[in-house]
Amino acid sequence: MSKITGNLLAGKRGLIMGVANERSIAWGIAAAAAAQGAELAFSYQMEGFGKRLRPLAETVNSDLLIECDVAHEGAVASCFETLAKSWSSLDFVVHALAFSDKDELKGPYMDTGRRNFIDTMMVSAFSFTETAQAARSMMPDGGALLTLSYIGAQRIAPNYNVMGVAKAALESSVRYLAVDLGGENIRVNGLSAGPMKTLAGAAITGARHIFRHSEESAPLNRNPDIHEVGTAGTYLISDLSSGVTGEIHFVDGGFNTVAVPREL
Ligand code: NAD
Repeated sequence: MSKITGNLLAGKRGLIMGVANERSIAWGIAAAAAAQGAELAFSYQMEGFGKRLRPLAETVNSDLLIECDVAHEGAVASCFETLAKSWSSLDFVVHALAFSDKDELKGPYMDTGRRNFIDTMMVSAFSFTETAQAARSMMPDGGALLTLSYIGAQRIAPNYNVMGVAKAALESSVRYLAVDLGGENIRVNGLSAGPMKTLAGAAITGARHIFRHSEESAPLNRNPDIHEVGTAGTYLISDLSSGVTGEIHFVDGGFNTVAVPREL
C-alpha cells in the first residue's frame, strides 16, 4: 500500500485494468489511488490472473473483479456492461496492459510478422480506444482515462520492436481521444514509465541492459519504483490534473531528457 495517504480520490470510483501481481504497474497505481480514498474495481485477463488478483484486491477493499481478455472482440464492451450492473457511473480508468509474442521482442524489428503485428496493436493500442468508447457512457459528468507507455514509442530501445510501434499508436490515440472526449470533460493521458521489473518487462530480450542503462543515465540516478508511478498516476486521474489532457507524462527519473549521459 502506498505510504502517501489523503482524500484526493475520496468519493471517486475507478476501474483498474492489468494487475497480474503485486509487481504490476497497475497495482502500483491501484494502491496509490486506494490510499487516496478511491473505490476500485479490477479487470483481469483470465482466471489464473483472477486468482492472484483477488487477495490483492481485498487489501484495498475491492471485490468487484471482472474477467476481460481484450484480445476477444466485444470483451471490453461487455466488461463495462458488467461494471454498470454494480456502478451507475465511473470517474477514472487505468489501462495498464500490453502483449506481444516474446519471440518478436528480440532481434531486428524488420522481422516482425503480420499476425503478431496485428495482435500486438490490438491488445496494446486499440484496446485503449475500445476502453474509451465503453467508459464514456459511464462518465456523464466527466472523468479521466489513463494508459501506460514507454519511451520506446518515441525513440529506439533494443528489442522493443513492434511494441514500440504499438506504443507510438497508443500515444497518438491519447491525443485523438483527448480531442474527441474533451467536450465531455473526459481527460485522456498517458504515463510513460521507466523500465520496471514486471512480467511484461521481462518479456523483452536484454531487459537487464535497458534497466541498467536507464538507471545509470537518469538524472535521478535510478529507475522509478511502482509506488512513484502510482502516485504520479494518481495525479493524472485526480482533480489535481483537471487542466491536463492529451499529455504523455514521463515518470522515468528524468531519463528521457538526457541526450548524452554524464561520465561514470
Ligand atoms: P504486467 O505483466 O504486470 O502487466 C501486464 C498486464 O497486461 C497483465 O496483467 C496481463 O494480464 C495484461 N494483458 C496482456 N494481454 C492481455 C489481454 N489480451 N487482455 C487483458 N489483459 C492483458 O506488466 P507491467 O509492466 O505492469 O505492464 C503494464 C503496462 O505498463 C503495459 O502497458 C506495459 O507496456 C507498460 N509499461 C511497462 C514498463 C516496464 O518496464 N515494465 C515500462 C513502461 C510501460
